[in-house]
Amino acid sequence: MQQRIPLVDLSRQYLRIKEEIDEAIRKVINKTSFIMGEEVEAFEEEFARFCHAKHSIGVASGTAALHLSLLACGVGPGDEVITTPHTFIATAEAISHCGATPVFVDIDPITFNIDPKRIEEVISQKTKAIIPVHLYGQPADMDAINDVAQKYNLWVIEDAAQAHDAEYHDQRIGTMGDMACFSFYPGKNLGAYGDGGAIVTNNSTIAERVKSLRNHGRMPGSKYEHTIIGYGERLDSLQAAILNAKLKHLREWTDARRAHAVYYNELLSGLDIVTPQETLNTRHVYHLYVIRLNNRDAVWKKMQEQGIGVGIHYPIPLHLQPAFKELLYSTSDFALAEEAAKQVLSLPLYPELIDSDIHKVVDTLREVL
Ligand SMILES: *Cc1c(COP(=O)(O)O)cnc(C)c1O
Repeated sequence: MQQRIPLVDLSRQYLRIKEEIDEAIRKVINKTSFIMGEEVEAFEEEFARFCHAKHSIGVASGTAALHLSLLACGVGPGDEVITTPHTFIATAEAISHCGATPVFVDIDPITFNIDPKRIEEVISQKTKAIIPVHLYGQPADMDAINDVAQKYNLWVIEDAAQAHDAEYHDQRIGTMGDMACFSFYPGKNLGAYGDGGAIVTNNSTIAERVKSLRNHGRMPGSKYEHTIIGYGERLDSLQAAILNAKLKHLREWTDARRAHAVYYNELLSGLDIVTPQETLNTRHVYHLYVIRLNNRDAVWKKMQEQGIGVGIHYPIPLHLQPAFKELLYSTSDFALAEEAAKQVLSLPLYPELIDSDIHKVVDTLREVL
């Protein structure tokens, strides 16, 4: 059955800005400069400016952004990196890709983000970095995280894959840690028409290293000399051109997401569920609008049957994923993350939703409950 209201609808957005996107694509194809074309640099400049940062380096995906950031900090075999178990697997995968070990810390049940108060307990001689995730678009508690990082001399790499345009204490996400990693996966708040990602930083040394790492270890400007063993993890010109066209609309799209979230909160009050809470002094960008409820699986199924695209982000916490079984974690190691995994439900939310869509979702949820 065709979903009446899907979880994400990328075609509505495309139809609204079709001319701009088609023109951006046409330009790249006319030039046939598909790799490292001028669109990449143009987007990097715009995105750095958008994040109020010195540098932005386009890469092939959010996963690549995390992986190359860790490598640029010198993270390797034998090292440990602290992160949250309640996130998309890529956050921890990138740590494993470096030969390092992910070390998990339980979450704050209100924000779903890493609980900074519990980070110190797991710091060891091997700890090199912390990766806080701004999950669902809500910034993690960066002041507290940076305090711990400073005390133990650790790198802070923000996983900002869901947090384009988010703010923490009036500062736009991108420069709160040593670097911030963005994903431009099509469904993200700023999405390409394929894979894409970026690393944003004020640290010029890190920026140079990442530029070389993403491009087979070449120094910028050098074609045949490879100074280090790098990777083929570049952002391509087509994606950069599309992202540049879309970036101009991002603020307005975020405002629409936030307005929809406020409306959901209002309509859902009184139901036996927990609606998302925006913490003080943050700008939550609602990549996902996530409620908590009992009987989640049954509600998920009935909503789907009624044509409402609901999602679960994420049903299995990372410490219980088969892929990480070698880390030897077990059930009840992170009780709050495990409870969240059983209760979270994402409702459809994207800028182009109209009020009647929101009414439909809420009415259906009320019936199902
Ligand atoms: C999407 C996402 C990633 C990975 O980004 P890709 O571009 O798909 O590689 C990493 N972390 C989080 C939290 C994400 O949501």
